[in-house]
Parts: sequence; structure tokens; C-alpha cells
Amino acid sequence: MTSAADGRTTGEGPLLSVVLPAYNEARNVGPMAARLVEVIGAIPGLAGRFEIVFVDDCSKDDTLAELRRLAAADPRVRYVSFTRNFGHQSALRAGLRHAAGEAVVLMDCDFEHPPELIPEFVARWREGARIVAAQRETAAGDVSVFKRLTSALYYRVLDAVGDISIEPGSADFLLLDRTVVDTINGFEDHDLFLRGLVRWLGHPLVKVPYRQGVRSEGESSYTLRRMVDLAVTGIIAHSVKPLRIAIHLALVFALIGVLLLVYSVVSFLAIGHTVAGWTSIMSAIAILGAGQFLVLGIIGEYVGRVLRETRRWPSFLVAETERSGAIGDRVVD
Ligand code: UDP
Repeated sequence: MTSAADGRTTGEGPLLSVVLPAYNEARNVGPMAARLVEVIGAIPGLAGRFEIVFVDDCSKDDTLAELRRLAAADPRVRYVSFTRNFGHQSALRAGLRHAAGEAVVLMDCDFEHPPELIPEFVARWREGARIVAAQRETAAGDVSVFKRLTSALYYRVLDAVGDISIEPGSADFLLLDRTVVDTINGFEDHDLFLRGLVRWLGHPLVKVPYRQGVRSEGESSYTLRRMVDLAVTGIIAHSVKPLRIAIHLALVFALIGVLLLVYSVVSFLAIGHTVAGWTSIMSAIAILGAGQFLVLGIIGEYVGRVLRETRRWPSFLVAETERSGAIGDRVVD
């Protein structure tokens, strides 16, 4: 193992690994590999010591066949293929475990993250940065208004309740030094929220601005449900405050319920009419019911995570790598 914060090593392994999760990216992996070879090959001092590691998240199209072909044609292209779809964050984790480089770049393989930024990442790394992160600068029209607004709101909430602060425009487009990769590989949480974790580590984050490219082929596979899932994971992983908010909310709802009760008793004693009682009882039940469901929901989220972590199930399973070679035809539902 070599220390390579400055990019100089004595070993013969790759200096740079580029990890790319790929889900239904058959039309992108080939052009992306070619572009990466071109861009990284031109970085002075690397002397061809790089590898490109694709993580096929059990794609339903021909991504795996493409990866087999690319790896057979160029030994610098490697791949890991999952037994089933484990999601983007698990693919990133698998890539980090399989990458051998002294620095590891993580990026999407749909050209939204421009490969042309990698030489700048490497330059910052050679200057001593352990984490270099791309910072998306948006111009109107680059990203949908909905995505921009929800992402800004989400990071504000995370900042308020969590133990980390993430700037809007952050993406999983980063370079990590080997020391950081080894640290992250030592974490065994099932639910990875890489964007949060790299900030939590505490190393200074060197930022490189970029304009997001346009997804070249295929569709975004981050559905709204997946985005909400990742958002909840981010908050739960970085904060127990929602549990406390639940208690505060429960107190507020209980107080409202008591006030309503006092009001109905006082109005019954003072005015003597009983019909009004039905309304106040119903509203008290409704408010308390809503409060209880909310609190139970929040607690349920945390309990679910605790259960998942204690089971210690792996966050991904590998079906095949470039070393194992093709293992028959895969049945994908
Ligand atoms: N991806 C993955 N597994 C999934 C969904 C996506 O590995 O279940 C990959 C996808 O191929 C891409 C990256 O993760 O390289 C980001 O996904 P996508 O482009 O769909 O998200 P967006 O950038 O649109 O938020």
C-alpha cells in the first residue's frame, strides 16, 4: 500500500479508479468508457495507470453484455454486476470496495457528470486534497424547477436537523483519496448516504464547479419514490432530531386536546348546553390521532433502520465480475 496524497507512488497498481454505477445504460457505457480513456489518458504523470470500474446494478437491457465486451477489449475496464437491483448508493459502495486506485472518482455514466472535470479533480488531489467534490452550477433550464426547489428545500431541512450541511448542487460526483476510501469501506451501515458521509468525515472538501451535462441516452431512473427514499435515508442517517420533534409535536397535540377539553367543560358548566361537546370530542380525537400516527411513523422509520442494521445483511451481492467472466445468461424479471 502506498501513500499517495500527492499522486506519487511506487506501486504498480492503478493510480486512478473511476467508478460508474450503471442501470440500463447499454447505450452509454461504451461511449463513456471511450471518453474516459481519452480524457484520463491525457492526464500527465498517470502513465496509463488507471482503471474504469462499472457497477451494473442488474440492468434489464444489454448493459452487462456491453461491459463484458468492453472489459474483454481493454484490461483497464473492469465491472461488477449485481444479482439484483440494489440501487445507486449500493452500487457506489460496491465500486468503492472493488476500486484499487490511490484515488477514486465516483460519477454517473449518463454524461450528466462531464468526464472533462477529472483532470481538475486529479490536480486538486495532487495538491493534497483528500476529497474533491463537483459543485453543480445551474443555469435556468439545466435542471427542472421541481428538482432545483425540492433539492434546495431538502438540504435546508438536513442542515437544520442533521449534523452535516450539504450545499445545494452537490452530487455524487467526487474524487476520494485512498485513505478516505479505506475509511468508508470500514463503515458497515446498510443505508449509505455518501454525500452526507463524506462531509461527516470532517476532511476539508475542495470544490470544483461544473455545469451539468445533458443525460445523453435513456431516462433518469431516480423516480420520485426513490428520491424520497434517499432523502429520508439522509435525514435518518444524520440526525435523531426528528425523534425529538415527534415528542414536541406530541406535546403540542396533547395541549390542544386538553384545551379543547377545558373549553367543552367550561362551556357546559357556564352555558349548560351539551351539543357542542360532540364537536370538541371529535376534534380532540382527530388531533390526537394525527399526532400519534406522526410520532409512530417517525419512530417506525428509526426502528426499521435499527432492524436492518442489526441483521447485518450485505448492501449488495455480486453475481459476476470481469475476473469471473460471464456466468451464463441472467434472468431478469
Ligand atoms: N443507477 C444505478 N441504480 C439504480 C438507478 C440508477 O446504478 O437503481 C445509476 C445510473 O445508471 C446512473 C446513476 O446511478 O449512472 C444516477 O442515476 P440517474 O441518472 O437515473 O439519476 P439522476 O442523475 O437523474 O438523478
